[in-house]
Amino acid sequence: MKRDTTRRGIAILGGTFDPIHFGHLRPAEEVRQALGIEQVLLVPAGQPPHRRQPHADAAHRLAMTQLAAAPHPVFTVLDWEVRKVSPSYAVETLARLRAEYGDTPLCFILGTDAFLRFDTWHRWREILDLVHLVVTCRPGWNNPELPEVLKLEVQARQMETPAALLARPAGGILFQTVTALSISATQIRDLVAQGASPRFLLPDAVLAYIGQHDLYRRECGSLPGDA
Ligand code: ATP
Repeated sequence: MKRDTTRRGIAILGGTFDPIHFGHLRPAEEVRQALGIEQVLLVPAGQPPHRRQPHADAAHRLAMTQLAAAPHPVFTVLDWEVRKVSPSYAVETLARLRAEYGDTPLCFILGTDAFLRFDTWHRWREILDLVHLVVTCRPGWNNPELPEVLKLEVQARQMETPAALLARPAGGILFQTVTALSISATQIRDLVAQGASPRFLLPDAVLAYIGQHDLYRRECGSLPGDA
């Protein structure tokens, strides 16, 4: 995985990817281009501690992420979290990446919705020193009211440009505007459960996989308890 092309920096996008869709891939690609870096690591979560369990099991979510990434060498899938039997915490993955990549800038991409809850993440303050956060503006989440602790972190760490961010390996926060794509995995699961096609919201190969494995056919969209 370590190549010269990773020296400028690496972007990382974690998620349940239940299933992965263009609302994940396009913002990740736009961050990659804006930062001028060559690699995005896609990290499907195993047992996410912050929300209900995913609908598709880890092996399916990993397979769908691999199918989405396969045609695009800029995307690499990291299977560390799905291979764990214990709950997967981002801090552990990011600490392992930091150990592996030395001083390479690591840019952890979060949608605005995820950033708003970031202060509830396990050992979240450590994450701020392991990586940079790149917060992408997600549709419906413009100008969100941040919790006070996060406001203080933004005041102390916000960088105005990708160049300023990449001057250091970690510790900054960059807000990156990306093309608004109002797509969610919940919407895709709901469509499949209703017998409607979610095509054009996600890669064709992922859609075909969902059909082949009969995923999301039962009532499974926005259940009570969805975070
Ligand atoms: P669900 O609908 O099941 O809650 P999701 O579509 O929000 O899923 P996740 O796997 O939970 O997808 O998201 C992983 C990451 O991708 C999060 O940081 C989230 O904010 C971001 N993300 C998801 N969809 C979009 C989108 N349409 N635009 C920008 N960021 C997104």
